[in-house]
Amino acid sequence: MTVVSLETNKLANYINGEWVDIRNAALVLNPATRETIVEVPLSDASSVDHAVSAAKKAQKDWALVPAPQRAEVLYQVGYLMKERKERLSQLLTMENGKVLEEARGEVQEGIDMAFYMAGEGRRLFGQTTPAELNDKFAMSQRSPVGVVGIITPWNFPIAIATWKSFPAIVSGNAVIWKPATETPIMAHELAKIFEEAGLPKGLLNVVFGAGSTVGDAMVQHQDIRVISFTGSDVTGRTIASECGKQLKKVSLEMGGKNAVIVMDDADLDLAVEGILWSAFGTSGQRCTACSRVIVHEKVKETLEERLLAAMEKLTIGNGLDESNKVGPIINKAGMDKIKEYMEIGREEGAKLLAGGYVLNEGEHGKGNYFAPTLFSDATSDMRIAQEEIFGPVVSLISVPNFEEAIEVNNGVTFGLSSSIFTSDVNRVFKAQRDLDTGIVYVNAGTTGAEIHLPFGGTKGTGNGHRDSGVQALDVFTEWKAIYVDYSGKLQRAQIDVD
Ligand code: NAP
Repeated sequence: MTVVSLETNKLANYINGEWVDIRNAALVLNPATRETIVEVPLSDASSVDHAVSAAKKAQKDWALVPAPQRAEVLYQVGYLMKERKERLSQLLTMENGKVLEEARGEVQEGIDMAFYMAGEGRRLFGQTTPAELNDKFAMSQRSPVGVVGIITPWNFPIAIATWKSFPAIVSGNAVIWKPATETPIMAHELAKIFEEAGLPKGLLNVVFGAGSTVGDAMVQHQDIRVISFTGSDVTGRTIASECGKQLKKVSLEMGGKNAVIVMDDADLDLAVEGILWSAFGTSGQRCTACSRVIVHEKVKETLEERLLAAMEKLTIGNGLDESNKVGPIINKAGMDKIKEYMEIGREEGAKLLAGGYVLNEGEHGKGNYFAPTLFSDATSDMRIAQEEIFGPVVSLISVPNFEEAIEVNNGVTFGLSSSIFTSDVNRVFKAQRDLDTGIVYVNAGTTGAEIHLPFGGTKGTGNGHRDSGVQALDVFTEWKAIYVDYSGKLQRAQIDVD
Protein backbone atom coordinates (compact mmCIF):
# COMPACT_ATOMS: atom_id res chain seq x y z
CA MET A 1 0.00 0.00 0.00
CA THR A 2 1.33 3.46 -0.88
CA VAL A 3 0.91 5.76 2.06
CA VAL A 4 -0.28 9.24 1.07
CA SER A 5 1.24 12.43 2.43
CA LEU A 6 0.17 16.01 2.95
CA GLU A 7 1.69 18.55 0.60
CA THR A 8 2.17 21.05 3.42
CA ASN A 9 3.57 20.93 6.93
CA LYS A 10 1.40 23.78 8.19
CA LEU A 11 -2.33 24.18 7.61
CA ALA A 12 -4.08 27.50 7.04
CA ASN A 13 -7.56 28.79 7.76
CA TYR A 14 -9.92 28.85 4.78
CA ILE A 15 -11.81 32.14 4.86
CA ASN A 16 -13.68 33.86 2.02
CA GLY A 17 -12.19 31.41 -0.48
CA GLU A 18 -8.62 32.18 0.57
CA TRP A 19 -6.03 30.27 2.58
CA VAL A 20 -5.12 32.50 5.50
CA ASP A 21 -1.92 31.83 7.41
CA ILE A 22 -1.96 32.28 11.20
CA ARG A 23 1.26 32.66 13.16
CA ASN A 24 0.39 30.69 16.30
CA ALA A 25 0.21 26.95 15.81
CA ALA A 26 0.02 23.62 17.61
CA LEU A 27 1.46 20.26 16.59
CA VAL A 28 -0.84 17.51 15.38
CA LEU A 29 0.43 14.08 16.40
CA ASN A 30 -0.33 10.69 14.91
CA PRO A 31 -1.74 8.72 17.88
CA ALA A 32 -0.31 5.49 16.48
CA THR A 33 3.29 6.76 16.58
CA ARG A 34 3.23 10.13 18.40
CA GLU A 35 5.04 11.59 15.38
CA THR A 36 4.17 15.09 14.22
CA ILE A 37 2.06 15.08 11.06
CA VAL A 38 1.38 18.78 10.57
CA GLU A 39 0.96 22.11 12.37
CA VAL A 40 -2.50 23.52 12.93
CA PRO A 41 -3.23 27.25 13.33
CA LEU A 42 -4.38 28.51 16.72
CA SER A 43 -6.56 31.38 15.62
CA ASP A 44 -8.27 33.94 17.81
CA ALA A 45 -11.62 35.72 17.76
CA SER A 46 -10.50 38.08 14.97
CA SER A 47 -10.46 35.15 12.51
CA VAL A 48 -14.05 34.35 13.48
CA ASP A 49 -15.02 37.99 12.82
CA HIS A 50 -13.27 37.87 9.46
CA ALA A 51 -15.06 34.64 8.52
CA VAL A 52 -18.47 35.86 9.66
CA SER A 53 -18.30 39.09 7.69
CA ALA A 54 -17.38 37.15 4.53
CA ALA A 55 -20.08 34.58 5.23
CA LYS A 56 -22.79 37.20 5.77
CA LYS A 57 -22.07 38.81 2.43
CA ALA A 58 -21.88 35.53 0.51
CA GLN A 59 -25.01 34.07 2.09
CA LYS A 60 -27.26 36.85 0.80
CA ASP A 61 -26.61 35.81 -2.81
CA TRP A 62 -26.54 32.09 -2.03
CA ALA A 63 -30.03 32.20 -0.53
CA LEU A 64 -31.30 33.43 -3.93
CA VAL A 65 -29.66 30.63 -5.91
CA PRO A 66 -32.32 27.98 -6.66
CA ALA A 67 -31.79 24.98 -4.38
CA PRO A 68 -31.32 22.50 -7.28
CA GLN A 69 -28.39 24.66 -8.44
CA ARG A 70 -26.97 24.83 -4.91
CA ALA A 71 -27.16 21.05 -4.91
CA GLU A 72 -24.93 20.81 -8.00
CA VAL A 73 -21.98 21.85 -5.83
CA LEU A 74 -22.73 19.02 -3.41
CA TYR A 75 -22.84 16.51 -6.29
CA GLN A 76 -19.37 17.72 -7.28
CA VAL A 77 -18.20 17.43 -3.67
CA GLY A 78 -19.51 13.84 -3.62
CA TYR A 79 -17.69 12.93 -6.85
CA LEU A 80 -14.42 14.46 -5.61
CA MET A 81 -14.70 12.68 -2.27
CA LYS A 82 -15.32 9.43 -4.12
CA GLU A 83 -12.29 9.98 -6.32
CA ARG A 84 -10.14 10.75 -3.24
CA LYS A 85 -11.64 8.16 -0.92
CA GLU A 86 -8.38 6.27 -0.35
CA ARG A 87 -6.35 9.45 0.22
CA LEU A 88 -8.90 10.81 2.69
CA SER A 89 -9.12 7.46 4.49
CA GLN A 90 -5.37 7.15 4.97
CA LEU A 91 -5.04 10.74 6.20
CA LEU A 92 -7.96 10.12 8.55
CA THR A 93 -6.24 7.06 9.98
CA MET A 94 -3.06 9.09 10.48
CA GLU A 95 -4.69 11.94 12.37
CA ASN A 96 -7.32 9.99 14.30
CA GLY A 97 -5.87 6.48 14.60
CA LYS A 98 -8.96 4.46 13.61
CA VAL A 99 -8.09 1.44 11.49
CA LEU A 100 -8.18 1.93 7.74
CA GLU A 101 -11.28 -0.19 7.19
CA GLU A 102 -13.21 2.06 9.57
CA ALA A 103 -11.69 5.21 8.09
CA ARG A 104 -12.94 4.11 4.65
CA GLY A 105 -16.36 3.57 6.20
CA GLU A 106 -16.33 7.06 7.67
CA VAL A 107 -15.34 8.67 4.37
CA GLN A 108 -18.07 6.66 2.63
CA GLU A 109 -20.55 8.11 5.10
CA GLY A 110 -19.52 11.58 3.93
CA ILE A 111 -19.88 10.58 0.27
CA ASP A 112 -23.35 9.16 0.94
CA MET A 113 -24.29 12.36 2.75
CA ALA A 114 -23.15 14.50 -0.21
CA PHE A 115 -25.41 12.69 -2.67
CA TYR A 116 -28.28 12.41 -0.22
CA MET A 117 -28.26 16.13 0.63
CA ALA A 118 -27.72 17.06 -3.03
CA GLY A 119 -31.01 15.25 -3.65
CA GLU A 120 -32.62 17.53 -1.07
CA GLY A 121 -31.93 20.38 -3.47
CA ARG A 122 -34.95 19.10 -5.42
CA ARG A 123 -37.05 18.41 -2.33
CA LEU A 124 -36.64 20.66 0.73
CA PHE A 125 -40.32 19.89 1.10
CA GLY A 126 -42.76 22.23 2.73
CA GLN A 127 -46.52 21.69 2.92
CA THR A 128 -49.49 23.03 1.08
CA THR A 129 -52.64 22.83 3.15
CA PRO A 130 -56.29 23.80 2.84
CA ALA A 131 -57.08 27.28 4.17
CA GLU A 132 -60.04 28.05 6.45
CA LEU A 133 -61.49 30.65 4.11
CA ASN A 134 -62.64 30.74 0.51
CA ASP A 135 -60.19 31.96 -2.13
CA LYS A 136 -57.23 31.63 0.15
CA PHE A 137 -54.09 29.53 -0.23
CA ALA A 138 -51.86 28.30 2.61
CA MET A 139 -48.40 26.76 2.57
CA SER A 140 -45.24 26.43 4.58
CA GLN A 141 -41.67 26.53 3.34
CA ARG A 142 -38.14 26.33 4.68
CA SER A 143 -35.93 29.43 4.66
CA PRO A 144 -32.20 29.49 5.41
CA VAL A 145 -31.19 30.86 8.79
CA GLY A 146 -28.16 32.83 7.55
CA VAL A 147 -24.69 32.21 8.97
CA VAL A 148 -24.39 28.98 10.95
CA GLY A 149 -21.59 27.69 13.16
CA ILE A 150 -20.56 24.06 13.35
CA ILE A 151 -18.23 22.70 16.03
CA THR A 152 -17.04 19.12 15.60
CA PRO A 153 -15.11 16.52 17.64
CA TRP A 154 -12.01 14.49 16.74
CA ASN A 155 -13.59 11.03 16.75
CA PHE A 156 -15.42 11.42 13.40
CA PRO A 157 -13.50 14.31 11.83
CA ILE A 158 -15.14 14.13 8.42
CA ALA A 159 -18.48 12.33 8.75
CA ILE A 160 -19.91 14.62 11.42
CA ALA A 161 -18.82 17.71 9.48
CA THR A 162 -20.71 16.42 6.43
CA TRP A 163 -23.83 15.69 8.51
CA LYS A 164 -23.87 19.37 9.44
CA SER A 165 -22.32 21.38 6.61
CA PHE A 166 -24.06 19.66 3.68
CA PRO A 167 -27.65 20.26 4.87
CA ALA A 168 -26.66 23.79 5.89
CA ILE A 169 -25.25 24.60 2.45
CA VAL A 170 -28.00 23.02 0.36
CA SER A 171 -30.61 24.93 2.32
CA GLY A 172 -28.96 28.26 1.55
CA ASN A 173 -26.77 29.07 4.56
CA ALA A 174 -23.10 30.02 4.93
CA VAL A 175 -20.98 27.96 7.32
CA ILE A 176 -18.25 28.74 9.84
CA TRP A 177 -16.64 25.43 10.84
CA LYS A 178 -14.36 24.91 13.81
CA PRO A 179 -12.91 21.40 13.66
CA ALA A 180 -11.27 19.71 16.67
CA THR A 181 -7.65 20.80 17.02
CA GLU A 182 -6.61 17.13 17.34
CA THR A 183 -7.88 16.30 13.81
CA PRO A 184 -7.67 19.28 11.43
CA ILE A 185 -6.56 17.43 8.28
CA MET A 186 -10.02 16.29 7.22
CA ALA A 187 -11.20 19.91 7.47
CA HIS A 188 -8.32 21.08 5.26
CA GLU A 189 -9.09 18.35 2.71
CA LEU A 190 -12.84 19.00 2.69
CA ALA A 191 -12.31 22.75 2.28
CA LYS A 192 -10.07 22.03 -0.74
CA ILE A 193 -12.78 19.80 -2.17
CA PHE A 194 -15.43 22.52 -1.75
CA GLU A 195 -13.09 24.99 -3.43
CA GLU A 196 -12.54 22.67 -6.40
CA ALA A 197 -16.23 21.84 -6.56
CA GLY A 198 -16.92 25.52 -7.23
CA LEU A 199 -18.63 26.61 -4.03
CA PRO A 200 -18.72 30.43 -4.18
CA LYS A 201 -16.26 32.04 -1.79
CA GLY A 202 -17.38 32.85 1.73
CA LEU A 203 -19.91 30.03 2.01
CA LEU A 204 -17.65 27.53 3.75
CA ASN A 205 -15.09 28.97 6.15
CA VAL A 206 -12.78 26.84 8.27
CA VAL A 207 -11.31 28.49 11.35
CA PHE A 208 -8.83 26.36 13.27
CA GLY A 209 -8.14 26.97 16.95
CA ALA A 210 -9.00 25.99 20.48
CA GLY A 211 -12.57 25.52 21.59
CA SER A 212 -12.10 28.01 24.39
CA THR A 213 -11.13 30.78 21.93
CA VAL A 214 -12.47 30.10 18.43
CA GLY A 215 -15.41 27.94 19.58
CA ASP A 216 -16.38 30.42 22.26
CA ALA A 217 -16.08 33.36 19.84
CA MET A 218 -18.50 31.57 17.50
CA VAL A 219 -20.95 30.91 20.30
CA GLN A 220 -20.79 34.58 21.36
CA HIS A 221 -20.99 36.04 17.84
CA GLN A 222 -24.30 37.85 17.30
CA ASP A 223 -24.34 37.14 13.57
CA ILE A 224 -24.01 33.37 13.90
CA ARG A 225 -27.62 32.38 14.35
CA VAL A 226 -27.23 28.62 14.85
CA ILE A 227 -24.62 26.53 16.63
CA SER A 228 -24.56 22.86 15.73
CA PHE A 229 -22.25 21.10 18.16
CA THR A 230 -21.08 17.51 18.61
CA GLY A 231 -18.79 16.70 21.49
CA SER A 232 -18.66 16.09 25.19
CA ASP A 233 -21.37 16.59 27.75
CA VAL A 234 -19.43 19.27 29.63
CA THR A 235 -18.73 21.42 26.57
CA GLY A 236 -22.26 20.96 25.21
CA ARG A 237 -23.85 22.18 28.43
CA THR A 238 -21.61 25.27 28.50
CA ILE A 239 -22.46 26.09 24.88
CA ALA A 240 -26.18 25.53 25.52
CA SER A 241 -26.28 27.95 28.41
CA GLU A 242 -24.38 30.63 26.46
CA CYS A 243 -26.69 30.18 23.46
CA GLY A 244 -29.68 30.28 25.79
CA LYS A 245 -28.71 33.75 26.99
CA GLN A 246 -28.76 34.98 23.40
CA LEU A 247 -31.83 32.97 22.30
CA LYS A 248 -29.55 31.38 19.73
CA LYS A 249 -30.67 28.11 18.19
CA VAL A 250 -28.38 25.29 19.31
CA SER A 251 -28.25 21.65 18.32
CA LEU A 252 -26.30 19.38 20.67
CA GLU A 253 -25.10 15.81 20.08
CA MET A 254 -23.19 14.58 23.08
CA GLY A 255 -22.22 11.44 24.94
CA GLY A 256 -23.55 7.94 25.32
CA LYS A 257 -23.44 4.96 27.67
CA ASN A 258 -24.73 2.46 25.21
CA ALA A 259 -25.68 -1.11 26.01
CA VAL A 260 -26.05 -4.40 24.21
CA ILE A 261 -28.74 -6.59 25.81
CA VAL A 262 -28.22 -10.34 25.36
CA MET A 263 -31.29 -12.43 26.18
CA ASP A 264 -31.29 -16.14 27.01
CA ASP A 265 -32.75 -16.96 23.58
CA ALA A 266 -30.09 -14.99 21.65
CA ASP A 267 -27.70 -16.34 19.04
CA LEU A 268 -24.66 -15.99 21.31
CA ASP A 269 -22.04 -16.18 18.58
CA LEU A 270 -23.75 -13.36 16.74
CA ALA A 271 -24.00 -11.39 20.00
CA VAL A 272 -20.25 -11.82 20.59
CA GLU A 273 -19.51 -10.49 17.10
CA GLY A 274 -21.84 -7.53 17.67
CA ILE A 275 -20.28 -6.71 21.04
CA LEU A 276 -16.74 -7.01 19.72
CA TRP A 277 -17.38 -4.68 16.79
CA SER A 278 -19.30 -2.05 18.68
CA ALA A 279 -17.19 -2.08 21.86
CA PHE A 280 -13.67 -2.26 20.45
CA GLY A 281 -14.08 -0.73 16.99
CA THR A 282 -12.47 2.76 16.98
CA SER A 283 -11.02 1.58 20.32
CA GLY A 284 -14.36 2.34 21.93
CA GLN A 285 -14.07 6.03 21.00
CA ARG A 286 -17.46 6.29 19.33
CA CYS A 287 -20.38 8.09 20.86
CA THR A 288 -22.42 4.96 20.04
CA ALA A 289 -19.79 2.50 21.32
CA CYS A 290 -21.07 -0.38 23.43
CA SER A 291 -19.75 0.11 26.94
CA ARG A 292 -22.26 -2.05 28.82
CA VAL A 293 -23.41 -5.59 28.16
CA ILE A 294 -26.66 -6.46 29.93
CA VAL A 295 -26.86 -10.22 29.89
CA HIS A 296 -29.54 -12.66 31.00
CA GLU A 297 -28.13 -14.57 33.98
CA LYS A 298 -28.81 -17.95 32.32
CA VAL A 299 -26.30 -17.25 29.54
CA LYS A 300 -23.85 -15.02 31.42
CA GLU A 301 -21.07 -17.59 31.83
CA THR A 302 -21.22 -18.87 28.27
CA LEU A 303 -21.23 -15.33 26.89
CA GLU A 304 -18.26 -14.37 29.05
CA GLU A 305 -16.24 -17.38 27.89
CA ARG A 306 -16.95 -16.76 24.22
CA LEU A 307 -16.31 -13.02 24.52
CA LEU A 308 -12.96 -13.57 26.23
CA ALA A 309 -11.92 -16.05 23.56
CA ALA A 310 -12.86 -13.60 20.81
CA MET A 311 -11.09 -10.68 22.55
CA GLU A 312 -7.85 -12.63 22.61
CA LYS A 313 -7.85 -12.68 18.82
CA LEU A 314 -8.11 -8.89 18.46
CA THR A 315 -5.01 -7.47 16.81
CA ILE A 316 -4.03 -4.06 18.10
CA GLY A 317 -1.72 -1.57 16.41
CA ASN A 318 -1.24 1.11 13.76
CA GLY A 319 -4.46 1.38 11.74
CA LEU A 320 -2.52 1.72 8.47
CA ASP A 321 -1.52 -1.92 8.85
CA GLU A 322 -4.65 -3.66 7.65
CA SER A 323 -4.04 -6.73 9.79
CA ASN A 324 -4.88 -4.62 12.87
CA LYS A 325 -8.46 -4.48 14.08
CA VAL A 326 -8.08 -2.03 16.97
CA GLY A 327 -6.12 1.22 16.74
CA PRO A 328 -4.74 3.66 19.30
CA ILE A 329 -6.39 6.06 21.77
CA ILE A 330 -6.43 9.66 20.55
CA ASN A 331 -4.05 11.23 23.11
CA LYS A 332 -2.57 11.18 26.59
CA ALA A 333 -5.63 12.76 28.18
CA GLY A 334 -7.76 9.98 26.69
CA MET A 335 -5.36 7.34 28.05
CA ASP A 336 -5.32 8.94 31.51
CA LYS A 337 -9.11 8.97 31.65
CA ILE A 338 -9.33 5.27 30.77
CA LYS A 339 -6.64 4.38 33.36
CA GLU A 340 -8.58 6.29 35.99
CA TYR A 341 -11.69 4.21 35.29
CA MET A 342 -9.65 1.01 35.80
CA GLU A 343 -9.04 2.13 39.37
CA ILE A 344 -12.65 3.18 39.82
CA GLY A 345 -13.91 -0.20 38.55
CA ARG A 346 -11.62 -2.14 40.89
CA GLU A 347 -12.57 0.01 43.87
CA GLU A 348 -16.25 -0.44 43.09
CA GLY A 349 -15.81 -4.21 43.18
CA ALA A 350 -16.25 -5.12 39.52
CA LYS A 351 -14.27 -8.19 38.41
CA LEU A 352 -11.58 -7.48 35.81
CA LEU A 353 -11.67 -10.40 33.37
CA ALA A 354 -9.43 -9.04 30.62
CA GLY A 355 -7.24 -6.04 29.82
CA GLY A 356 -7.09 -3.11 32.17
CA TYR A 357 -3.58 -1.98 31.20
CA VAL A 358 -1.59 0.19 28.80
CA LEU A 359 0.20 -1.67 25.99
CA ASN A 360 3.77 -0.42 25.87
CA GLU A 361 5.91 -3.24 24.56
CA GLY A 362 7.66 -2.93 21.15
CA GLU A 363 5.76 -0.94 18.52
CA HIS A 364 2.93 -0.33 21.00
CA GLY A 365 5.34 1.70 23.14
CA LYS A 366 5.53 4.33 20.39
CA GLY A 367 1.80 5.10 20.42
CA ASN A 368 -1.23 5.33 22.73
CA TYR A 369 -2.52 1.78 23.04
CA PHE A 370 -4.84 0.35 25.68
CA ALA A 371 -5.72 -3.33 25.99
CA PRO A 372 -9.37 -4.23 25.28
CA THR A 373 -10.92 -4.54 28.72
CA LEU A 374 -13.80 -6.54 30.17
CA PHE A 375 -15.23 -6.01 33.64
CA SER A 376 -17.77 -8.53 34.90
CA ASP A 377 -20.15 -8.55 37.87
CA ALA A 378 -20.77 -4.85 37.47
CA THR A 379 -23.94 -3.33 38.85
CA SER A 380 -26.00 -0.64 37.27
CA ASP A 381 -25.16 1.97 39.90
CA MET A 382 -21.36 1.71 39.50
CA ARG A 383 -19.60 4.66 37.90
CA ILE A 384 -18.06 2.35 35.27
CA ALA A 385 -21.64 1.45 34.29
CA GLN A 386 -22.90 5.05 34.34
CA GLU A 387 -20.19 7.35 32.98
CA GLU A 388 -18.75 7.63 29.49
CA ILE A 389 -15.20 6.20 29.50
CA PHE A 390 -14.53 6.60 25.75
CA GLY A 391 -12.12 3.70 25.44
CA PRO A 392 -12.08 -0.06 24.79
CA VAL A 393 -13.81 -0.93 28.07
CA VAL A 394 -16.97 -2.97 28.57
CA SER A 395 -18.83 -3.71 31.81
CA LEU A 396 -21.02 -6.78 32.03
CA ILE A 397 -24.16 -6.58 34.14
CA SER A 398 -26.34 -9.67 34.62
CA VAL A 399 -30.12 -9.50 34.98
CA PRO A 400 -32.83 -12.09 35.70
CA ASN A 401 -35.32 -11.10 33.01
CA PHE A 402 -36.25 -8.92 30.03
CA GLU A 403 -38.02 -6.24 32.10
CA GLU A 404 -34.93 -5.67 34.24
CA ALA A 405 -32.72 -5.54 31.16
CA ILE A 406 -34.79 -2.67 29.80
CA GLU A 407 -34.74 -0.91 33.17
CA VAL A 408 -30.94 -1.19 33.43
CA ASN A 409 -30.54 0.03 29.86
CA ASN A 410 -32.65 3.08 30.59
CA GLY A 411 -31.12 3.75 34.00
CA VAL A 412 -28.38 6.11 32.75
CA THR A 413 -28.41 9.82 32.05
CA PHE A 414 -27.56 9.34 28.35
CA GLY A 415 -29.91 7.99 25.65
CA LEU A 416 -27.99 7.56 22.41
CA SER A 417 -27.96 3.94 21.22
CA SER A 418 -29.05 0.50 22.44
CA SER A 419 -29.26 -3.00 21.07
CA ILE A 420 -30.93 -6.30 21.87
CA PHE A 421 -30.04 -9.81 20.78
CA THR A 422 -33.07 -12.10 20.98
CA SER A 423 -35.00 -14.50 18.77
CA ASP A 424 -38.37 -13.68 20.34
CA VAL A 425 -40.40 -11.39 18.08
CA ASN A 426 -42.54 -10.17 20.98
CA ARG A 427 -39.44 -9.04 22.85
CA VAL A 428 -38.17 -7.31 19.71
CA PHE A 429 -41.26 -5.13 19.47
CA LYS A 430 -41.46 -4.45 23.19
CA ALA A 431 -37.76 -3.50 23.21
CA GLN A 432 -37.97 -1.09 20.29
CA ARG A 433 -40.91 0.57 22.06
CA ASP A 434 -39.39 0.70 25.57
CA LEU A 435 -35.66 1.33 25.02
CA ASP A 436 -35.22 5.03 25.76
CA THR A 437 -32.56 5.85 23.17
CA GLY A 438 -32.55 7.71 19.85
CA ILE A 439 -31.17 4.66 18.05
CA VAL A 440 -32.18 1.01 18.60
CA TYR A 441 -30.63 -2.04 16.95
CA VAL A 442 -32.05 -5.56 16.93
CA ASN A 443 -29.59 -8.43 16.54
CA ALA A 444 -26.73 -6.03 15.78
CA GLY A 445 -24.31 -4.02 17.94
CA THR A 446 -24.83 -0.40 19.00
CA THR A 447 -22.92 1.23 16.10
CA GLY A 448 -23.44 1.63 12.38
CA ALA A 449 -25.89 4.45 11.70
CA GLU A 450 -27.03 5.09 8.12
CA ILE A 451 -27.07 8.69 6.95
CA HIS A 452 -30.66 8.90 5.72
CA LEU A 453 -32.03 8.24 9.20
CA PRO A 454 -31.99 10.75 12.06
CA PHE A 455 -28.93 10.51 14.33
CA GLY A 456 -29.01 11.58 17.95
CA GLY A 457 -30.25 10.67 21.36
CA THR A 458 -32.71 11.23 24.15
CA LYS A 459 -32.12 12.60 27.68
CA GLY A 460 -28.57 13.86 28.38
CA THR A 461 -27.28 12.95 24.93
CA GLY A 462 -28.66 16.11 23.40
CA ASN A 463 -31.40 18.67 23.30
CA GLY A 464 -33.90 17.06 20.97
CA HIS A 465 -32.35 17.88 17.61
CA ARG A 466 -30.97 15.34 15.16
CA ASP A 467 -28.03 15.20 12.77
CA SER A 468 -28.34 13.56 9.33
CA GLY A 469 -31.62 12.37 7.82
CA VAL A 470 -34.06 15.02 6.60
CA GLN A 471 -34.37 15.98 10.26
CA ALA A 472 -30.97 17.74 9.98
CA LEU A 473 -32.67 20.33 7.77
CA ASP A 474 -34.72 21.50 10.75
CA VAL A 475 -31.54 22.72 12.45
CA PHE A 476 -30.48 24.86 9.50
CA THR A 477 -33.82 26.24 8.34
CA GLU A 478 -36.64 28.34 9.69
CA TRP A 479 -40.22 27.41 8.90
CA LYS A 480 -42.21 30.15 7.23
CA ALA A 481 -46.03 29.99 6.96
CA ILE A 482 -47.40 31.80 3.91
CA TYR A 483 -51.05 32.77 3.27
CA VAL A 484 -52.20 34.12 -0.09
CA ASP A 485 -55.67 35.62 -0.11
CA TYR A 486 -57.04 35.92 -3.64
CA SER A 487 -60.62 36.90 -2.67
CA GLY A 488 -60.00 40.63 -3.18
CA LYS A 489 -61.54 41.45 0.19
CA LEU A 490 -60.40 41.40 3.80
CA GLN A 491 -61.06 37.95 5.24
CA ARG A 492 -60.35 37.43 8.92
CA ALA A 493 -59.17 33.99 10.07
CA GLN A 494 -61.26 32.44 12.86
CA ILE A 495 -63.76 35.32 12.57
CA ASP A 496 -65.23 35.40 9.05
CA VAL A 497 -66.02 31.67 9.14
CA ASP A 498 -69.65 30.52 9.26
P1 NAP B 1 -15.12 18.17 23.28
O1 NAP B 1 -13.90 18.27 24.10
O2 NAP B 1 -16.39 18.66 23.84
O3 NAP B 1 -14.77 18.93 21.91
C1 NAP B 1 -15.67 18.99 20.85
C2 NAP B 1 -15.44 20.26 20.07
O4 NAP B 1 -15.81 21.38 20.90
C3 NAP B 1 -13.99 20.48 19.70
O5 NAP B 1 -13.92 21.07 18.43
C4 NAP B 1 -13.52 21.45 20.78
O6 NAP B 1 -12.39 22.20 20.39
C5 NAP B 1 -14.74 22.31 20.95
N1 NAP B 1 -14.81 23.04 22.23
C6 NAP B 1 -14.21 22.75 23.40
N2 NAP B 1 -14.52 23.68 24.33
C7 NAP B 1 -15.34 24.58 23.74
C8 NAP B 1 -16.01 25.76 24.19
N3 NAP B 1 -15.89 26.22 25.43
N4 NAP B 1 -16.78 26.44 23.31
C9 NAP B 1 -16.93 25.99 22.04
N5 NAP B 1 -16.31 24.89 21.56
C10 NAP B 1 -15.54 24.18 22.40
O7 NAP B 1 -15.39 16.66 22.82
P2 NAP B 1 -14.35 15.61 22.22
O8 NAP B 1 -13.55 15.07 23.33
O9 NAP B 1 -13.63 16.23 21.07
O10 NAP B 1 -15.32 14.51 21.62
C11 NAP B 1 -15.71 13.37 22.30
C12 NAP B 1 -17.13 13.51 22.77
O11 NAP B 1 -17.99 13.70 21.65
C13 NAP B 1 -17.66 12.27 23.47
O12 NAP B 1 -18.36 12.64 24.62
C14 NAP B 1 -18.60 11.66 22.43
O13 NAP B 1 -19.62 10.86 22.98
C15 NAP B 1 -19.13 12.87 21.77
N6 NAP B 1 -19.69 12.55 20.45
C16 NAP B 1 -21.04 12.59 20.30
C17 NAP B 1 -21.62 12.25 19.09
C18 NAP B 1 -23.11 12.30 18.90
O14 NAP B 1 -23.55 12.46 17.77
N7 NAP B 1 -23.91 12.19 19.93
C19 NAP B 1 -20.79 11.88 18.01
C20 NAP B 1 -19.41 11.86 18.20
C21 NAP B 1 -18.87 12.21 19.43
P3 NAP B 1 -10.86 21.77 20.70
O15 NAP B 1 -10.87 20.35 21.10
O16 NAP B 1 -10.17 22.01 19.44
O17 NAP B 1 -10.40 22.67 21.78
